[in-house]
Amino acid sequence: MQSRRPGFPARLPSSAPVAAPRPAGQSLALRPQAPAPQGVGLDSAAVRARMVQRLAAGGITAPAVLQALRDVERHRFVDSALVNQAYEDTSLPIGLGQTISKPSVVARMLQLLLGAPCATAGLGRVLEIGTGCGYQAAVLGRVAREVYSIERLRGLHERARANLRPLRLANVHLIFGDGMAGYGPGAPYAAIIAAAGGEAVPGAWYDQLAVGGRLVAPMAHGGGQQALLVVDKTPQGFKESVLEAVHFVPLKSGVA
Ligand code: SAH
Repeated sequence: MQSRRPGFPARLPSSAPVAAPRPAGQSLALRPQAPAPQGVGLDSAAVRARMVQRLAAGGITAPAVLQALRDVERHRFVDSALVNQAYEDTSLPIGLGQTISKPSVVARMLQLLLGAPCATAGLGRVLEIGTGCGYQAAVLGRVAREVYSIERLRGLHERARANLRPLRLANVHLIFGDGMAGYGPGAPYAAIIAAAGGEAVPGAWYDQLAVGGRLVAPMAHGGGQQALLVVDKTPQGFKESVLEAVHFVPLKSGVA
């Protein structure tokens, strides 16, 4: 039965915000997540293949990134009421006021990470700040040897755990804690990726990045705007570049 087949808008405007407005009734509560309807799961490979075609047309060229986005079933990470939007290029609410990033932004950030000087043969250990629902952690698990993903909201940490359990990704480690302090036990990291935007890069992230490693994070960049920041740690020091504007949920300190 394919009565809930997802729709595919041809292309969203590139100016579409990354963080979706919170739908009414989805305030701060974390609703129990119903399993994704079977009908969508059955033909979702074709839907994902089309999503990946659009990403490739939009400039994503790294085969490992395209393959990972083809493999990971994004509809399993969103609320059942939103499943028909899972393969649109849009961010979606995941509860507790947070959002899953849109696929083009996930792909862009992963491609940037894979461009790191030390990433010629895939990525080694990666730290993700902001596990959210666990989607990006699952994608990272396919392009990196080891993934440490940290989340400050216990409800989302638990939800990510439940979402990832059936995937049995032995190389993805979920941590409940404040990612502003990084995660020392996994350091040094070949790559650090943040899914929440702060005012400045916390010192721990610079410290925990390996020489030859790369950090990609949304950061405040003048006038309340956010932009993607890329930091390379070289033997000669840090090299920073500011790229395109983005719109992520805020990086916050402490746990809740
Ligand atoms: N990568 C996620 C996107 C989650 S949105 C996904 O695929 O679903 C960003 C997440 O960052 C939110 O869940 C938010 O709670 C979390 N976050 C914000 N500040 C944080 C911090 N200091 N440490 C850990 N997680 C943080």
